[in-house]
Amino acid sequence: MGHPWWGIAGALAVELVRNLVNLHQFDHWLRNRNRRDPPDAGGLWGDLVSQVSRLHRRKQFHKKRLLSLFRELRRSTASMPDGVVALNAAKEIVWFNRKAAELLGLKRKTDFGIQIAGLLRVPEFSRYLSSGDYSTSLRVPPRVGDATTLEFQGVPYGEGQVFLLVRDVTRQSQLETMRKDFVANASHELRSPLTVISGYLETLALDDTLPDDLRGPIGEMRRQSERMTTIISDLLELSRLEATDEQVVGTPIDVAGLLTLLRKDLAARDAKVHAVELRIESPDGLMGDQGLMHSAFWNLVDNAAKYSPPGGMITLRWWTDDDGGHFSVTDTGPGIAAEHLPRLTERFYRVDPGRARDKGGSGLGLAIVRHVLQKHGGELKIESVEGRGSTFSCHFAPTRLVRESVAKATDSRYSAGLDSNG
Ligand code: ADP
Repeated sequence: MGHPWWGIAGALAVELVRNLVNLHQFDHWLRNRNRRDPPDAGGLWGDLVSQVSRLHRRKQFHKKRLLSLFRELRRSTASMPDGVVALNAAKEIVWFNRKAAELLGLKRKTDFGIQIAGLLRVPEFSRYLSSGDYSTSLRVPPRVGDATTLEFQGVPYGEGQVFLLVRDVTRQSQLETMRKDFVANASHELRSPLTVISGYLETLALDDTLPDDLRGPIGEMRRQSERMTTIISDLLELSRLEATDEQVVGTPIDVAGLLTLLRKDLAARDAKVHAVELRIESPDGLMGDQGLMHSAFWNLVDNAAKYSPPGGMITLRWWTDDDGGHFSVTDTGPGIAAEHLPRLTERFYRVDPGRARDKGGSGLGLAIVRHVLQKHGGELKIESVEGRGSTFSCHFAPTRLVRESVAKATDSRYSAGLDSNG
């Protein structure tokens, strides 16, 4: 009792030992908290233990939830009929589902973090991926030793990341080829008998001894056989255009010369029916296939003349700017209602079937124009106001343009005054 400092020191020592024991138990529990129950401590240590154990329980709960969500996601993507590959901004593989592994031959252990373009080694695919333009899908035809046709569709997200969807379209592609072959073969087979029928009808029409009451029906039969011939030759042209997906390189075309010739052809056919204005605002030419380009431009000019009432005005315009080269045909005809515009380039689509047939149209003209432009990386745009007229314009990329001197020097056909069909 006479030594209070000893008493205080003793009490502090006991407290220190108790804290050290608690600290040790706490540390031991923290290290093995998944297996052991929290230590039974009171006071401040007790509060600490219960707070840490609450945090721990919450973390465990979220971890389990995330894990089950992830498993669910993996199970659902594995049962997807399409392949999915997640790519980071460097286009390296971050994740893929079972179907993608099957279609692209990816391996889970080795292919994560690898650049997908280097792994697939398909030039068109590398170009598609690096272009960053995923507005359309890419179809990759079968390669040697592999009969599958694959279709890729990029879906950009985040900062440069891409979800790549992969589909096996072998069956559709085979059906399309069968359809194209069938149309091409049927048209080809129909051409010869039709030529014979047309020939006989022509001879009959010229026969002076033909009874008068047969002249009308024979004339109508001739008109119909001419229409059939047009349809068949248009179908054959479409088949040729569809035969490959490859872009046409071609040769320099003197566009000014081509348009002058188109105007001459039109004037020769329906002289004085329409006024034709030619506006050549650029001397530059265009790289492309002369025959195809002539056919596409003529289809547009012919439509403008066919569907405009007499006395109308047709304007042909060629101009170039930073966006490339542009050709347009504007008419003051009946125009086309807005609901028809998106479907106009479909085969056999007609705004007014009766009227179009009267005009001798095959319903394939604009489909041919669209295909020709696609082959040249170009685009067809249609603007129209009902009752006021229409403008059909063809747009080509700047890379398709060639200087006037090159076009004129290479494309001597128009300057020499030769027929463009020859
Ligand atoms: P067609 O050979 O019947 O003319 P197209 O494919 O060239 O077939 O045109 C499709 C349809 O678009 C035509 O039937 C016609 O109804 C409409 N059309 C095309 N050009 C014009 C135009 N300049 N003015 C009004 N309608 C047009």
